[in-house]
Amino acid sequence: MKIENIQVLRGPNIWSISRRKLIQMRLDLQELEHKPTNKIDGFYERLKALLPSMYDHRCSPGVPGGFFERVIAGTWMGHVIEHIALEIQTLAGMNTGFGRTRETKTPGVYNVVFNYVEEKVGIYAAEAAVRIAQALIDGTEYDLEHDVQTMREIREDTRLGPSTGSIVDEAIARNIPWIRLNNQSLVQLGYGKYQVRFRATMTEQTSSIAVDIASNKEETKRLLQEQAIPVAKGMTISSTDQVDEVIKRVGFPLVFKPLDGNHGRGISINVKTREDAIAAYEHAARISRKVIVERYITGYDFRVLVIDNKMVAAAMRVPAHVKGDGVSTVQQLIDKENTDPRRGYGHEKVLTLISVDRDTLDLLDKKGYTLESVPPEGETVFLKSTANLSTGGTSIDVTDHVHPQNIFYAERISKIIGLDICGIDIMAENLTEPLPDTGGVVLEVNAAPGFRMHVAPSEGLPRNVAGHVLDMLYPPGKPSRIPIIAVTGTNGKTTTTRLIAHIVKNNRKRVGYTTSDGIYVQNTMMLKGDTTGPVSAEFILKDPTVDFAVLETARGGILRSGLGFTRCDIGVITNIQEDHLGLADIHDLDDLTRVKSVVINSVKKDGWGVLNADNPYCVRIGKRADCNIAYFSRDENNPVIKEHCKNGGVACVHENGFITILKGDWKIRVQKTIAIPLTFGGTVPFMIDNVMAATLAAFLWGFKTEDIRISLETFIPSAAQTPGRMNIFDFKEFRFMIDFAHNPDGYNGVREFLSHVDSPYKIGLIAGTGDRRDDDLRELGRIAARMFDHIVLRQENHLRGRTKENMIGLMTEGMKEVKPDMSYEVIDYSNVKSIEYVIGLAKPGSFITTLSDAVDGAIGIVQTFQEKERDQ
Ligand code: ATP
Ligand code: ATP
Ligand code: MG
Ligand code: MG
Repeated sequence: MKIENIQVLRGPNIWSISRRKLIQMRLDLQELEHKPTNKIDGFYERLKALLPSMYDHRCSPGVPGGFFERVIAGTWMGHVIEHIALEIQTLAGMNTGFGRTRETKTPGVYNVVFNYVEEKVGIYAAEAAVRIAQALIDGTEYDLEHDVQTMREIREDTRLGPSTGSIVDEAIARNIPWIRLNNQSLVQLGYGKYQVRFRATMTEQTSSIAVDIASNKEETKRLLQEQAIPVAKGMTISSTDQVDEVIKRVGFPLVFKPLDGNHGRGISINVKTREDAIAAYEHAARISRKVIVERYITGYDFRVLVIDNKMVAAAMRVPAHVKGDGVSTVQQLIDKENTDPRRGYGHEKVLTLISVDRDTLDLLDKKGYTLESVPPEGETVFLKSTANLSTGGTSIDVTDHVHPQNIFYAERISKIIGLDICGIDIMAENLTEPLPDTGGVVLEVNAAPGFRMHVAPSEGLPRNVAGHVLDMLYPPGKPSRIPIIAVTGTNGKTTTTRLIAHIVKNNRKRVGYTTSDGIYVQNTMMLKGDTTGPVSAEFILKDPTVDFAVLETARGGILRSGLGFTRCDIGVITNIQEDHLGLADIHDLDDLTRVKSVVINSVKKDGWGVLNADNPYCVRIGKRADCNIAYFSRDENNPVIKEHCKNGGVACVHENGFITILKGDWKIRVQKTIAIPLTFGGTVPFMIDNVMAATLAAFLWGFKTEDIRISLETFIPSAAQTPGRMNIFDFKEFRFMIDFAHNPDGYNGVREFLSHVDSPYKIGLIAGTGDRRDDDLRELGRIAARMFDHIVLRQENHLRGRTKENMIGLMTEGMKEVKPDMSYEVIDYSNVKSIEYVIGLAKPGSFITTLSDAVDGAIGIVQTFQEKERDQ
């Protein structure tokens, strides 16, 4: 077997719209193509022995044991690998269960698709599954536990922490989109202008000054004390000379802690002698010169969580500990405690495994113990100095038992410090009585408090505290999404995207749009290049200034990693025509239809799909779509349009020289085609298509027809507004057009336009592209022969596996089929020289056309020649 490639899909994709997180592995089974599982001796037995839990996989029989039945009956290795990849992820604590294995057009090569929770784990699972299958085939030993543990470790390394994760989960539940902004915990909720960022439990609203105050324990205590909040009596010292003074003023027992420490580092508690006090000072001073010394308070550690000035949860926290039984050693007691099924690796379960570290040994040492000591029965031996869950501590939810007066204190504290998400550490006998009654005190206030103790307490009710964060960040009525119009199709995507963006902008929106030329915000190009994939879509959705997105969405990105957005408001398919067939497992128009339909299937239920009624593939997508559909057509009598409008549907047609919206029986004439510059006086049918698609999308969004009309009038096909699309440059004696047509339908569109152009001598400068099938190149030659009097074939630089001779040969073959005596020549000049050359061929009245990417930077070059002529 050979893995040909592994792709990570992150958005709606050809396999599924709702299952966005998929691994797609292209796998060549090689000799195994002829060996299903029933033909491999002992395969089933070995599989069952290594992965008995796969019994639960129902597979197509739909019952437990279903997958094993398939293995016994005989199934292909790709299918088995899919199930292994799912199972090992599940064993590593990441529940997965969706998979598909499909053959490709290449015999023996399959696409194995399965879902993941963490993408790096998914990639690992793909590779491991192939290794495991191979070991099962060969009957060799396999260390499965090693893979499972590695996958757990990768997950802990890459996944969002539990607090961040809980907020993201709540956002998903509320249908608020999110984007992870780095490989730590920085996350964006919402899109564009409506975004809010947070990191762990700090939000973009968290006051920086409040965080500063909270991280300075002295400052915090002073501010609280001034507002009559009970705190432990104490002072801050910065040398051993002050120890005696502290003892006198505060009195034993004492606690020493570094002024700006955390996680319990450098703390000594219950200090009772002068000698210990000096040692405790020195211990703390190693972390910060200033040391807080305060009265030791007896009681339990509580954490009260206040969000948006409301108390939302309270927990009692106990550091990791074991209870002596009089016979077991400390180590044995720890080992026994770790067998508790609630304890897991990292944050995988409610509790974390207890590990022995320096802190543990120090604590034991203070008691005069080692790991080999046997504590008496009933004695509690603490193993960590802090109650953090991540070091094995436990938590008990006490939210419902907090005395109203303590709630009053807690909410007031969050205001005094100024934190929107505020964790208050309290030392007290309990929280059921007011703090002053029990002598309880506030020890410190934490910014960015962890949520796990509340979300998954070891005892008591879990609290959905993330819900309160979202209530604060997105109060009722505040939107989280900006409108998204996604445009796909074989031809006309960029032009349609630009025209829609132009209409949107004229409606006083701040539009961000992506095209195969680059990414734009309003009129400014932010990034140049073919930016039609998910990363470019995210670029716009991350822009905090944008309030409307129009996204050209090409097949490349959909196939590579899925859409860059989870759903859109309007999806447009301009057409589905032949282009780039034979690449990436897309062999015919049916395959292409499956790819383009992803955009329509991602439209929200009450959104709209805008489809070309003149294109049967689009019509097929329309029939199956879940969202509302609107069609456009060059012919108002197109039967699809007739039927659609009879049922009250919305459509856009070209009738009697008008671009007209049909709404049931109503006709709304938007504008005369001759007044729409993009249609070249109505002579370019494909531009009329693009205008109809854009008009319909804008109308469905709710823009007024008057406003759409003005936008259609002001959108000029020019190097500025539609670079490379039908840009015509006037010279004194001739005209020069640059157009990006690069497939048969594009060529035919240009041919249609040229048939309206009055010129005695039409010259074409053309080139093929390497990644085309032989007959596609011939076809381009045929169409070119029909529209030009003379053809200049340029040696193409983007050969992609072909030779120049082969490409030129195929194109001339096509030309000669149509016109055996076609006048043509082949040139091999630089970009500038080629343009200069065709200009040299011009006679008075000539019309020169360069098509496709025949000349890189053609616009700039032609403009230079135009300036030269003007200067003469
Ligand atoms: P963390 O970051 O884990 O919250 P920290 O380093 O910020 O810890 P504190 O929260 O001030 O330090 O103290 C850590 C623990 O030490 C407390 O949870 C408590 O158990 C104990 N402690 C601190 N001060 C006192 C005190 N005055 N009396 C009794 N115990 C105390
Ligand atoms: P690409 O896949 O290269 O990004 P695109 O779909 O974005 O192309 P445009 O850039 O708008 O398409 O147009 C490219 C060329 O295709 C145009 O220059 C024109 O020749 C032709 N074309 C534009 N619109 C259509 C259409 N609706 N139908 C057929 N051909 C079109
Ligand atoms: Mg603390
Ligand atoms: Mg494009």
